[in-house]
Amino acid sequence: MKNTPTPADYRECRLCGRNCGTDRTRAEARCGASHRISLAWAGLHFGEEPPLVGTGGSGTLFFSGCTLGCPFCQNYQISREGMGREMDDEEFLSVARRLKAAGAENLNLVTPSHFIPTLSRLLPQLREDDFPIVWNSSGQETREALKQVFPHVDIFLPDLKTLDSRVAGEYYLFRKYPGIAEPALREMAEHRPLVLDHEGVLKKGVLIRHLILPGELDSTEQVLKWFSTVMKGKAMLSLMSQYTPVVSAAYPDPRPGRYLSESEYDRVLDMLHRYDLEDGFIQEWITGSDWLPDFNRINPFSSELSRVLWHWRDGFVDGSVPDQESS
Ligand code: SF4
Repeated sequence: MKNTPTPADYRECRLCGRNCGTDRTRAEARCGASHRISLAWAGLHFGEEPPLVGTGGSGTLFFSGCTLGCPFCQNYQISREGMGREMDDEEFLSVARRLKAAGAENLNLVTPSHFIPTLSRLLPQLREDDFPIVWNSSGQETREALKQVFPHVDIFLPDLKTLDSRVAGEYYLFRKYPGIAEPALREMAEHRPLVLDHEGVLKKGVLIRHLILPGELDSTEQVLKWFSTVMKGKAMLSLMSQYTPVVSAAYPDPRPGRYLSESEYDRVLDMLHRYDLEDGFIQEWITGSDWLPDFNRINPFSSELSRVLWHWRDGFVDGSVPDQESS
């Protein structure tokens, strides 16, 4: 691996609401990240919301590590267990460029917040007209960190997990989350008004995701009420019903311990009607774990939903398109 200069910004890291001040050039932080970018998987993804997928698929880059660390994380192998490969600038740029050459509608950076200084340096080299950069995060970047990102990102795809500090503490292990995420999402919407092309593909804007937690529908209602009063017309909304009690070595007894019930799903549909939010997206009612990704596989997702280009263990996969620059 070539040496990438150590970004000074990682010496006392305060990129996310954890505000832990770790020197990431010496120690691994709570987010599991050192000062080197680590990537787990890259490929075309067809399972994101339709305005992100278009016809070519979303060009997803899954980073290792995470600033939150939810006990039930479906991507725990990469978010918590460190699966992935550290890489230098050129390797990262090469993977990203090949996604574009493969026909991706956009470049979708999945859980990138702990690498903001490096990405702020590299993203200008990837920006091109009509090829949006998507920032797919848990929405808990600090204000200062977001300022570094704004010039380089077209579409924000943040989660709003909850606005209730009890729920944030109990299920996301971070009581302060609402106080960080809510203003961050407002700021994203101010910076990036919605722009869709004539085929409904998102070019600029904010799409907010919320995962419905079984047994915690008051929290979902709080989020929907907030969206209807603060964000309606300024951002898009996507509700996720896929909560799965994922069992891992770190969390053998995940909470909540069950799937969303059909009656809970119906209650959420009623809420959408009540708050006049019927033009967003909601997943079909899901109860089963067949769809869970496994990042040990070259393609962690189902083959109908994704096309692999690069894997942390094998690098570029045979048959992936050549680097745009070298073709
Ligand atoms: S990204 Fe957050 S958790 Fe990771 S080192 Fe920085 S402040 Fe700490």
